[in-house]
Amino acid sequence: MITASPLSAQPSSTTEDWRQHWREAVTDARELLSLLKLEGLAAQLPEGDAGFPVRVPRGFIRRMRTGDPHDPLLLQVLPQLAENRHVEGFQHDAVGDIPARAAHGVLHKYRGRALLIASGACAVHCRYCFRRHFPYGEEIAAAHGWREALDYLQSHPDIDELILSGGDPLALSTRKLDELSSQLGGVPQLRRLRLHTRLPVMIPERIDAELLAWLDGIELQKIVVLHANHARELDADVAAACARLRAHGITLLNQSVLLRQVNDDVGSLCALSERLFECGIVPYYLHQLDHVQGTAHYEVSDAQAMALMDQVRACLPGYLVPRLVREVQDEPSKRPLG
Ligand SMILES: *Cc1c(COP(=O)(O)O)cnc(C)c1O
Ligand code: SF4
Repeated sequence: MITASPLSAQPSSTTEDWRQHWREAVTDARELLSLLKLEGLAAQLPEGDAGFPVRVPRGFIRRMRTGDPHDPLLLQVLPQLAENRHVEGFQHDAVGDIPARAAHGVLHKYRGRALLIASGACAVHCRYCFRRHFPYGEEIAAAHGWREALDYLQSHPDIDELILSGGDPLALSTRKLDELSSQLGGVPQLRRLRLHTRLPVMIPERIDAELLAWLDGIELQKIVVLHANHARELDADVAAACARLRAHGITLLNQSVLLRQVNDDVGSLCALSERLFECGIVPYYLHQLDHVQGTAHYEVSDAQAMALMDQVRACLPGYLVPRLVREVQDEPSKRPLG
């Protein structure tokens, strides 16, 4: 059940400082390289943006090491010539999102939970992203005032968990989010609301008083699934944002993608889990890369991935070991590996 939201009573109290950080993101690869004193790499940049422009918040760039072309944060966002290579088996819709479309902006693949594409925008553009080719233009649930999405939920009483994803759902204004949540009372079977977001990592200022008030007004169990791939993404500001969420009763999980040269070694994976838990976040999934066109240079083989997980299990308590999974079209869940 959803209570009346405190937001509707205070229409103009928003400051939304986080939007400033959003607007100031670096959108030019050459500027990114020059901030990191890596101008020499500019010659290796691909021409054009392969339809997926560069976008990196400055706070994230400040966590990168100056002068290090192998920095694991940089490698997630820097365009590479390899993106233009065609690799057999790497496609546009690698995970069957288009056939799983159930209503406008709704993906329904798994029993009990439906995923809403709340927004097509992200604070950061991750070069390995499985949705880099997704036709967001037509598929944002918010664009239709949530009506089709809510109708779908109402006519599927077995769906008791709503997942807001995207893009990044926290790219929406809190007001827009409130527009959705204020209608969730019409879907009485819902028990859980889950947000899949990289914003608390990319722009921790997004977790502001207004957002926390919005979350407080929602009487469902709330889960935020963050997305961090490397321990160094989680600096003190991110830790503070996570602490704010936890103080408001939110369960925090993390999903990562296993990425070549970013986190494909036992030291990085163990340090990530340890750092996540310091921030009150439980490691949930470690995804094998979806076979999306333009991302093959990030691929780690299943055999390598499983061998890595054996090493990780040998160095961490069980609750800090994420589940290694691959998304396979038409299966009833993510497929566990190993
Ligand atoms: C991954 C995914 C989910 C969530 O799966 P969980 O195993 O519950 O985390 C739900 N819907 C869609 C469409 C997904 O891709
Ligand atoms: S934040 Fe998530 S959805 Fe957005 S580009 Fe990165 S991986 Fe893709």
